[in-house]
Amino acid sequence: MRIDLHTHSNASDGTQEPAEVVASAAAAGLDVVALTDHDTSAGWAEAIAAGERLGVRVLPGVEVSCLQRGISVHLLSYLHDPAHPALAALLEGSRTSRLTRARSMVERLGADTGLTWEDVLAQVHGDATVGRPHIADALVAKGLVPDRDEAFATLLSGRSRYFVPHSAPDPVEAVRLVREAGGVPVLAHPAASKRGSCIADTDIDEMVEAGLLGLEVDHRDHSADERAHLRDVARGLDLLVTGSSDYHGAGKKNLIGEHLTAPDVLEAVLAAARPPAEPQSRAGGRHVPGA
Ligand code: AMP
Ligand code: FE
Ligand code: FE
Ligand code: ZN
Repeated sequence: MRIDLHTHSNASDGTQEPAEVVASAAAAGLDVVALTDHDTSAGWAEAIAAGERLGVRVLPGVEVSCLQRGISVHLLSYLHDPAHPALAALLEGSRTSRLTRARSMVERLGADTGLTWEDVLAQVHGDATVGRPHIADALVAKGLVPDRDEAFATLLSGRSRYFVPHSAPDPVEAVRLVREAGGVPVLAHPAASKRGSCIADTDIDEMVEAGLLGLEVDHRDHSADERAHLRDVARGLDLLVTGSSDYHGAGKKNLIGEHLTAPDVLEAVLAAARPPAEPQSRAGGRHVPGA
């Protein structure tokens, strides 16, 4: 069984349609793929339908943007109820704040580069969750940088004078809400130090008290030492260990299926998810093929 539990579509900052992500998963020989767009479940229905056609089991998820004392923290949630009011409101708040923030960054960039909001909107698919990758794509389209990587290394870096943060929930609060919504919370790339500061192990303890169930350990942004350390942390706290690609289509070098999650871990994720109350659940809303 080949299982990849972290991918993005153009419902956020990936470059492929949700169905194309699932087709890429099939082409890579994956049996299971989780679609985990930033702060939105908009791609779920299309991905699940494609999975049924292509014989790939699609695990619906979201990557929840969080901020812990100014440090960006990403929390994966699997199989939560997307209609849970508090969780849905939290995600909508982040999407709105991301829009405001992107406009501010474009205003700052525009003064020096001529970049406009329309340039950025041309890169955003429908009402996708907007992020710096869309600004990067607009800079590429204008010929100001060669690719997303270069944009992130220069104009869009967290240290750039054009950078503006967006507001996001505290990770402990997010973990609590994901559990309340019946989801399975797994901390994404906890030691990806190349992206900026990371939270401390003591912060992970607090998240575990709130209901965190796993750590994403095998990820290209973690060194061998960081993976070994995270495995120790997970063992000590009795947490699940996942491995995933964080695939973004052509938007990043990450290849779908480049890191995998063990079948017994997937079983534990499925077992930890709480199904929604039946009468209220909408037809097909949370159906996981084969579950
Ligand atoms: P944001 O959430 O808007 O601050 O932007 C961060 C997002 O940009 C992350 O989700 C990454 O997937 C993406 N990202 C970060 N660095 C790069 C890079 N060098 N190339 C492409 N995408 C990146
Ligand atoms: Fe991303
Ligand atoms: Fe992430
Ligand atoms: Zn991601």
